[in-house]
Amino acid sequence: MTNPYHIIAVGAHCGDLELQVGSIAHKYAKVGHRVTFLHMTAGEKGTPPGVDPEEYRVQKIKESEEAADILGVETITLEYRDAELKIDDDTISHVAKIIRELKPDVALTHWVNSMHPDHEACPQIVEAAWLKAALPGFDLDGLEPHGMRGMFHSENWEDMEGYEPDVFIDVSDEFDTYLKALSKYWFIMNSTSFRYYDYYQALGTMRGCLARVKYAQTLKYPTGMNVRKGADIPKLPL
Ligand SMILES: [Zn+2]
Repeated sequence: MTNPYHIIAVGAHCGDLELQVGSIAHKYAKVGHRVTFLHMTAGEKGTPPGVDPEEYRVQKIKESEEAADILGVETITLEYRDAELKIDDDTISHVAKIIRELKPDVALTHWVNSMHPDHEACPQIVEAAWLKAALPGFDLDGLEPHGMRGMFHSENWEDMEGYEPDVFIDVSDEFDTYLKALSKYWFIMNSTSFRYYDYYQALGTMRGCLARVKYAQTLKYPTGMNVRKGADIPKLPL
């Protein structure tokens, strides 16, 4: 492939991105595009019985690496702490530097409304980092400015207030691999607070029904970015 895309997905906790965009990521990765999962925190505080957060952090990073191997994506977990993610200059600059280093074309992240503050922080951090990475007036360790082409939100059960998908992606051929990757996470298979595996299997099925394919995953344009400017009506070229 002469010009592979690079997609960066930015999630609050190890496991979020796999659930939200795992099958979309695998669809691109398996034909030679590059996908990087950037987990802002490990999500280490929802510990299994008898495991402390530091041990669980190590476990979750290992699980993220196993899932990434199955999906064919790269994975990075930052040092920020679960349930303590801040929208501040240091965090925005950190993500902006990663954008300048990795030069992704597009970012995927959480929707803007969530019951979890770390999730809600992610799209604000990504949007601010996208701008900061692109503006030549910001000196970030001498790294060359980089402008991404766009960002999309993705679907997470904790982020559903106002989430109406704009884009349905057929992942029928990737769904089995997606489920296999999900099964690497203890919390997805064993949480007693939410039936993650059942929900996301059913969600892929339901979105697939609406898209008239077997399985689908969805994305949403940032508010105000799903705009076309042209000479004719969309789908009716003159
Ligand atoms: Zn999360």
